[in-house]
Amino acid sequence: MTDDERRAALEAVAAEVRACTRCRLHEGRTRAVPGEGSASTEVVFIGEGPGFHEDREGRPFVGRAGALLATLLRSVGWRREDVFITNVVKCRPPENRDPAPDEIAACAPYLRRQLEILDPALVVTLGRHSLGTFIPGARISQVHGTARPVDPASGPRAALVFAMYHPAAALRTPEIERQSFADMAAVPLALAAARERRSDAAPVDDLPAMPAQAEMTMTASSPAQLDRPTPAATPAAGRDPHPSADPLPADAAADQLTLF
Ligand code: URA
Ligand code: SF4
Repeated sequence: MTDDERRAALEAVAAEVRACTRCRLHEGRTRAVPGEGSASTEVVFIGEGPGFHEDREGRPFVGRAGALLATLLRSVGWRREDVFITNVVKCRPPENRDPAPDEIAACAPYLRRQLEILDPALVVTLGRHSLGTFIPGARISQVHGTARPVDPASGPRAALVFAMYHPAAALRTPEIERQSFADMAAVPLALAAARERRSDAAPVDDLPAMPAQAEMTMTASSPAQLDRPTPAATPAAGRDPHPSADPLPADAAADQLTLF
């Protein structure tokens, strides 16, 4: 797909979302929030659902949690416009309650179609509801900052999913904020690993099954080794090279990306 085709396909999904009445969340919404960002990106961030400000504006992550997400992105040299940002449910749950399982299920086809269209190399989940959509049963306190393969049935052909805490949790708890910056520092590394995995270009059906519980650690002897073919040299066909896999994490400990 060309960028224009991806943009048009994303807009078609967004138009359906704006008119959707598939679950009770449509009753209380001001505006649905389909998601936004680059149609040529390799990275999709997925939150839980719109809050008060998102519901009013029809755009994701525009409140305080969104400001922190932008700061986290800046900490690795990325901007919101470089990535695509969306949510598990596209309409605001009343009083910001957790989305119910049947609401998540009703909305899931929209997220799956967005991921099919964008076909990102890396999916970053923000918070436990987003994590649970990709890795049922995983505990965020145990898996944040780590990556594992995404089930292609979720939409992307061959992606890694990287788990982060929700920025709203980081706003409440300084330790989670500190951890969120440390986790974000590993996101460009996860992108580099995800690109590498795709470029190995095994037909998707031939990818080895990852043992779900096996602890596997990918170690780079030096960050420079991961400074693989420059992004400009490796854009997927028809893709902008954004966001760059550089800069690599400054934190020496982050030269390891754990696949769980
Ligand atoms: N929290 C979310 O999970 N998503 C948003 O879009 C805003 C806040
Ligand atoms: Fe439709 Fe999703 Fe909104 Fe429910 S949350 S009404 S499924 S767009």
